[in-house]
Amino acid sequence: MSDTERSIFSRIIAREIPATIVAETDTLIAFEDIAPQAPVHLLVVPKTEDYRNVTELASGNPALMAEMVALAQQLATERAGGDFRLVFNTGPSAGQTVFHVHAHVLAGTLGEGTLA
Ligand code: 5GP
Repeated sequence: MSDTERSIFSRIIAREIPATIVAETDTLIAFEDIAPQAPVHLLVVPKTEDYRNVTELASGNPALMAEMVALAQQLATERAGGDFRLVFNTGPSAGQTVFHVHAHVLAGTLGEGTLA
């Protein structure tokens, strides 16, 4: 795969682009979103680029999706008392801009009834 075909997240995983990495496992990486929308705003990203969105991930590798949720919980517990919002933007009109599945972990004091 050429550099232009690889996602920005694959380039963060490869340490080609800097990011504030907060956790890493054999299968996942988590780092701070560059444009935070909440007091805690992390991205949890599978190292594989095989799944473009959460629908593909849920049908193709539900165990990996469960790992993402568990890591999100761990990070929210470490940083914000354990409560969190998990967002998977799915499709351009829903705000997805990076087509390498990722979960937004939003935590801290969040507004009631808001989506971010
Ligand atoms: P999406 O819009 O696809 O749901 O989420 C992509 C997220 O990736 C956005 O919240 C955006 O701020 C974040 N993002 C895009 N480029 C970078 C980057 O180079 N570094 C980091 N840390 N986050 C990025």
